[in-house]
Amino acid sequence: MQEEIPQTTRAKAELLENGKIFVKNIKELPFLADHSTAGPNTGQNSIFLRFGDGRLVRLTLAETQSQTPYTYNVEHKMIQKSGIDWYPAKQVESLLHCPEQAFLNLDSNCRYNCKFCATPLIQSHVSHRVLKPQTVTRAIKRVAKKGLSGVALTTGVFSSPTESVKHMCRVVKAIRKEFGDALPIGVEPFVQEEKHINMLYDAGADEIKVNVESYDPEIFAIVCGKLDYENNLRMIRYAAKVFGEKRACSNIIIGLGEKEETINQGAEALANWGVIASLRPLNLNPLIETQLQEALNNRAQRPSAERLLSHATNHKKILKEKRLDVTRFQTMCLKCTGCDIVPQRDL
Ligand code: SF4
Ligand code: SF4
Repeated sequence: MQEEIPQTTRAKAELLENGKIFVKNIKELPFLADHSTAGPNTGQNSIFLRFGDGRLVRLTLAETQSQTPYTYNVEHKMIQKSGIDWYPAKQVESLLHCPEQAFLNLDSNCRYNCKFCATPLIQSHVSHRVLKPQTVTRAIKRVAKKGLSGVALTTGVFSSPTESVKHMCRVVKAIRKEFGDALPIGVEPFVQEEKHINMLYDAGADEIKVNVESYDPEIFAIVCGKLDYENNLRMIRYAAKVFGEKRACSNIIIGLGEKEETINQGAEALANWGVIASLRPLNLNPLIETQLQEALNNRAQRPSAERLLSHATNHKKILKEKRLDVTRFQTMCLKCTGCDIVPQRDL
């Protein structure tokens, strides 16, 4: 029998389909909007809202009311849809990039220029800057008493994958030295060789994310033109071996013009290796929209709520069959849940 999808999960999927919310009295928001240098909302301002029975959603701030049917009424703590009260919701504070976590981007420069990724573009006008280990530990200390439950690190690749992994290892070690084992550490590196994964594990990272991006090899070749599809999958599989099952995860983007079955095949292949996918709605960030549409012949499209729900439902079945448990993740996106419909958390 088909499982009933909770109304609040449907509402979250609708919000994610549009991806934006307008806040009228923005200065009255209890917490500052988040401005990220990595992830789907790179270069954009966004807020996190918790509503219903614990759903968390991250939404980009719309500049005008006409860009979205959704408004957040700060005074009444209410999400409105087309001007009508819809769901009571509270803004949740983003510590560093997301609630409860310090998720830091060590290097916003990247030589690979994947077509969907805005990270390298926001840095083109400033000189190269890499977060030093002590800068990271200082930043973590600043939010440590605000309900911090984990740390996560991501990075672009400025010089070489080995150099960026070495730097990430230095940061992981510095965090361990400063905070002991109290904070779980997740890493989202770019890796090309097995030794990169071994280095991060030996440095003390607990969880790892190596992204599939697109499971369709042709689309991957277009959007990640400088990367190697087969080697990337090999790295993901190896990461699960080294970190252990249930400690490796990976983004698969929905909306790059792939077939529906390709998403399901990707989620299933990962699950077979003990890796849990984050099925991530494409953000047509204005910084990358033109280059992405040109590369994909206008096939890029933010997925509909129905698409998101159908993939999440299918993914939930896959995870059950493979006995994989999303709720065991302590860091990164499977812990946060703000950008995706996450099986076992949202439905
Ligand atoms: S390798 Fe990662 S950071 Fe670099 S362009 Fe691609 S997605 Fe962005
Ligand atoms: S789901 Fe991931 S990318 Fe989205 S806000 Fe949370 S940690 Fe960042």
